Amino acid sequence: PTFTEPEEARSSHITYDDVGGLQGVLDQVREMIELPLKHPELFQRLGIDPPKGVLLHGPPGTGKTLLARAVAGECDANFFHIAGPEILGGGFGESESRLRELFERAQKESPAILFIDELDAIAPKREQVGGEMEKRIVAQLLTLMDGLAPRQNLVVIAATNRVDSLDEALRRPGRFDREIVVGVPNEQGRREILEIHTRGMPLAEDVELHSIADTAYGFVGADLGALCREAAIEALRRKLPEIDLDAEEIPSEILETLHVTREDFTD
Ligand code: ATP
Repeated sequence: PTFTEPEEARSSHITYDDVGGLQGVLDQVREMIELPLKHPELFQRLGIDPPKGVLLHGPPGTGKTLLARAVAGECDANFFHIAGPEILGGGFGESESRLRELFERAQKESPAILFIDELDAIAPKREQVGGEMEKRIVAQLLTLMDGLAPRQNLVVIAATNRVDSLDEALRRPGRFDREIVVGVPNEQGRREILEIHTRGMPLAEDVELHSIADTAYGFVGADLGALCREAAIEALRRKLPEIDLDAEEIPSEILETLHVTREDFTD
């Protein structure tokens, strides 16, 4: 397995404006993650420890990774990202040392968000896993969480879509003791997400995002993003017969009449 190079959220420019249909969730994220990262002095004044670990819990594609990036972007914090399955594997002890290195780097480069996607892959209930490796990884993660000083401007966010399958020890105080539920968007939420994903698109006048939102029942953010991209590709396909692929530059008349129409969304 390869170790993902930590990326800087600063250069990704993702903000809360890129997150749709999760207003209540954003309020919780701001209180639990942004506030302690930006103003640890408030917690110090009150004599309490800010949260070290937050669990984002919800179905795939609802925006958990996006939220973690957005909060890092808003706090000007460095963003370190690893997926559970990437930690697994390798020779004896390699997974644990990969985790240790990641925690060390994030601590050194704080303020930081350390995001662990698919936590359930590395931290299932210990009594349910046969493998010694999983047991060691969970134990290592517990040790690392316990070893984090409470006020060092680092929040570990972990995402899971199967919160019941997590080792309970991970959810004790001082570890992942806060939980935010990231749900499937309702119609209003779907509309907000569609607005975000069509922000840069030349939409034809017949496109009604509210009626697309109405019919896209059950779609999550990732599905809606894909729907918008597909619609744009469809618009391009319609235009293709007019395009001379060998031309040095596409004439501006063609660019200006390239619109994404209602039909492009439904085909
Ligand atoms: P997984 O559990 O599969 O990792 P996830 O919940 O982390 O999924 P993301 O990776 O954040 O989901 O979502 C994938 C993409 O879908 C995002 O990069 C974004 O383009 C789009 N998306 C998802 N949710 C939202 C949302 N609430 N608002 C806007 N875009 C969204």
